[in-house]
Amino acid sequence: MSPKTRVVRSACRGCHGVCQVLVHLEGDRVVKVTGDPDSPTSRGYICPKGKASPLFLYHHDRLKYPLRRGGERGENRWIRVSWEEALSEMAEKFTKIKEQSGAEFVAMGQGTGRPHTEWTGRFANAFGTPNFIGPAHLCYVSRLMASGLTMGRLPVCDIYGFGGEMPACIMMWGANTSQIGAADGMCGAMLDRALRKARKVIVVDPRRIGPAEKADHWLQLRPGTEGALALAFINAIISEDLVDHPFVDHHTVGFKALVEHVRDFTTEWAEPGTRVSAEEIRAAARTVATTSPACLQWGNGIDMSVCSMQTARSMLILMGITGNIDRPGGMALWVPPAGVKPKSLIVNPDHCNLRGRI
Ligand code: SF4
Repeated sequence: MSPKTRVVRSACRGCHGVCQVLVHLEGDRVVKVTGDPDSPTSRGYICPKGKASPLFLYHHDRLKYPLRRGGERGENRWIRVSWEEALSEMAEKFTKIKEQSGAEFVAMGQGTGRPHTEWTGRFANAFGTPNFIGPAHLCYVSRLMASGLTMGRLPVCDIYGFGGEMPACIMMWGANTSQIGAADGMCGAMLDRALRKARKVIVVDPRRIGPAEKADHWLQLRPGTEGALALAFINAIISEDLVDHPFVDHHTVGFKALVEHVRDFTTEWAEPGTRVSAEEIRAAARTVATTSPACLQWGNGIDMSVCSMQTARSMLILMGITGNIDRPGGMALWVPPAGVKPKSLIVNPDHCNLRGRI
């Protein structure tokens, strides 16, 4: 290592896996990024995208200054302009629309959570348009809110086994985390490690995703019927009395009402709608109820389903009646380390004053 070389600990934000990394610098220039072998979560892992992350800074095609189109649309001709010019021109065009048609004729949209996202909404508000579109309704937030309403915060599959136990059963439902790299803060490589160690794997997905190849159960449901399938799981577990009664008695409310509610949602009822046979549903329900600890790795497939909120609640209830909430190797409810106040409302409901409101 040359005297000018130094290594700085950081976290990759190439996706939502947030792997811990070592950033190697020569002077102020990043020369490479490697996985951090001392990380308790990513354990030295880094994917090709993370490795290539210095190119975000230095690739010759990276957008570093404002460009104005210099020809017809599609010609790919661009002219460099100053920041002042670019901002004035945009302000002029926005003001013109506002004066001629009204502020609501400008709609603003943005993608998933990034540092700038707190400001786009404020910009829309200051400009005066209510037409603001974000991914929340069909990406993650319905699961987040359903979890808040059902148990105070979002539980996550304990793929690390920090409590001393790895999941014995992993149910992947509407999530292909191991093949897309990472999602919702869950690293796909670490999920793969947990899948290899699990005794039972259940995949609920219309597509034959990678983990379905070796899964004990692959339920190829009709998209949009996740809620019906979850209710049938609950019905099967209750009717075969595979419920974790001590957990239900001590940590839940409304079990009797639940029994009444799901009485008609039998596996036979669910079969024609979900296109999963009643026997397959019952077999998978038995597996998740009798292989402990079990966890649920869910994903956007739930958020994008019909009635995503109630679907998510049904799935949480399913994990609850099988005694897999807030236990090692099950659905962990992480708490922030002492003295750390994360901004994320997933682990810190005090952020945004959400305590007591969700
Ligand atoms: S999985 Fe995501 S967070 Fe991890 S190294 Fe790759 S891009 Fe970065």
